[in-house]
Amino acid sequence: MAEKLIIIGAGPAGLSAAIYASREGFEPLVVGGMGGGQLELTSIVENYPGFPEGIDGPKLISDLKRQAERFGARFVYEFVNKVDFNTKPYKIFTDGNAYEADAVIVATGADAKWLGIESEKRFRGKGVSSCATCDGAFFKGADVIVVGGGDTAMEDSLFLTRFAKSVTVVHRKDEFRASRIMQEKVLHNDKINVIWNSTVEEIKGDARVNGVVLKDVLTGQTQKLKIDGVFIAIGYTPNTKPFVGSLPLDKQGYIITKDEVLVDGKDGIFIAGDVADHYYRQAATASGSGVKCALRAREYLSNLYYEEKGGK
Ligand SMILES: Cc1cc2nc3c(=O)[nH]c(=O)nc-3n(C[C@H](O)[C@H](O)[C@H](O)COP(=O)(O)OP(=O)(O)OC[C@H]3O[C@@H](n4cnc5c(N)ncnc54)[C@H](O)[C@@H]3O)c2cc1C
Repeated sequence: MAEKLIIIGAGPAGLSAAIYASREGFEPLVVGGMGGGQLELTSIVENYPGFPEGIDGPKLISDLKRQAERFGARFVYEFVNKVDFNTKPYKIFTDGNAYEADAVIVATGADAKWLGIESEKRFRGKGVSSCATCDGAFFKGADVIVVGGGDTAMEDSLFLTRFAKSVTVVHRKDEFRASRIMQEKVLHNDKINVIWNSTVEEIKGDARVNGVVLKDVLTGQTQKLKIDGVFIAIGYTPNTKPFVGSLPLDKQGYIITKDEVLVDGKDGIFIAGDVADHYYRQAATASGSGVKCALRAREYLSNLYYEEKGGK
């Protein structure tokens, strides 16, 4: 028998949806992939409302999960590799199982792109970050670099000037691909310096980051820079591979929504969090959209079951 509601993803968006949907009595099945999403990668979260002292990312995730379980949400940690949202009930395939559901909330998030060097992994959360909005405030009076040349790198650099003593943008080309206005803001900011045609070869440090080795891609020469933080701003990859052919995706692979959480022509499918969000990419906004999806799903399922019972 088909599930009433399946939620794909167990990050803040999926878990917030699960809390609301389970309290409504829909006993959602959460198919949670590899775990609790991006917040599992961070230590302290200081801007999620309700935690004046901050809260550990993994602790926030496990608390949200417990809250959803309390009201009847069920969890399986399997990776969805294919879906069929073209016929009802909707079908979801994982490595070992196939599921059917009357309604689905997609909350598979987006992964930050990383440089892929070994030292970057070692210092993640110890001076290396992919989220300036999240971690900028930890770098008061520090010298930081931002790696990238698009709008996100420009925005992050400008934002970081509020906290950091100096911000150096490191870009592998000799021009930015960011919009003209963003470039101008960066290039005219006294706190921001740009190093062109350069890549990060290595991130140095002991307990925390204390420097980087940069390589000039034209000359091959390397230089060491003493800095306290590295912000990687080279883009995000939305986790939408399983939805190709079933949901509309934009050029970057994000799900295209209407009215924030709906999809044109797919009633009963709802989209929550970073998987459709180019802009905010925050735990609280992901939670908010998860809640909106659960409320939309409630309306959809109530109408569906009312009609199935002949309007009784
Ligand atoms: C290092 C770091 C620090 C951050 N710090 C903060 C902070 O301090 N404050 C803040 O507000 N935000 C912070 N963020 C951003 C925040 O984590 C995200 O905005 C938020 O997690 C997005 O929630 P989400 O539920 O949409 O997606 P995610 O958290 O990415 O969760 C996606 C979920 O989908 C699952 N999934 C993915 N693909 C599949 C699949 N094929 N099948 C099944 N499941 C799948 C994943 O396993 C996961 O459970 C930080 C992000 C990072 C990377």
